[in-house]
Amino acid sequence: MTYYDQHVHTYFSFDSSAEWAAYLAQTTLPVVTTEHLEFQNPDDGGHDDAPDYSAYVAEAKKLRTVFPNRILLGVEVGYRAPLADQIATYLAANDYDLTLLSFHQDGDYDYQNPYFRTVDQKAHVQAYYETMLAGVREVGYADVLAHFDYGLRVLDVTPEQLTAWAKPLLTEIFKTMIAKHIAFELNTKSMYRWENEALYATVIPWYQALGGTLFTLGSDAHTVDKYANGFDEAKHLLHQLGVHQLVTYQQHQPSPVTF
Ligand SMILES: [Zn+2]
Ligand SMILES: [Zn+2]
Repeated sequence: MTYYDQHVHTYFSFDSSAEWAAYLAQTTLPVVTTEHLEFQNPDDGGHDDAPDYSAYVAEAKKLRTVFPNRILLGVEVGYRAPLADQIATYLAANDYDLTLLSFHQDGDYDYQNPYFRTVDQKAHVQAYYETMLAGVREVGYADVLAHFDYGLRVLDVTPEQLTAWAKPLLTEIFKTMIAKHIAFELNTKSMYRWENEALYATVIPWYQALGGTLFTLGSDAHTVDKYANGFDEAKHLLHQLGVHQLVTYQQHQPSPVTF
């Protein structure tokens, strides 16, 4: 088995118009889409953005006739504590192969809003990871923590600052992930579009030192041309860190893929 992209959006997400079939047409590998579940979404006028599950399953059924054994179902949960019950209710009603856990917003702003460039950087980074730690401790449904650096994408935090400000918090986050078998995603959009590769190279050894072994790669593609973007570079980084195995998910069960 070859590793395939495990962070992909289509028109079932509020911020993408990409066709599922178009991703399938440009690879021979399985395609899992991970659509946004983002309640009270500040990037969408406060709307509750949830994949239309019955339409999603109907599309999967149709595509399986053309692309047999290559369709997997996924969701990217945008977590906030006040939304916990609403999220849990949605997930209990809808089956997926893969659930990504994300921290995208604070209730007022998406963390990519330029507003966060105007706040105290240390306080923001620490608040972001305190929120993430509480969320990772709380949820029971996450397979993968997506883009651990999402709240820093629009900032210019250095590895030295991240270490000084957040190593204890990230250590607790990683301990919790390891105990719950939640994988660490290398989000190649964060690494190469948002130039945070150095932050990934800094924290992955912390995760490894605590015993973490589960890794995924995700392009976070919202258009077909971004599918698996930057995977060669990210695999090279992992090889340098002594990692030669990724995991893929079916029905939430991880399978190792050597690369
Ligand atoms: Zn995301
Ligand atoms: Zn995403």
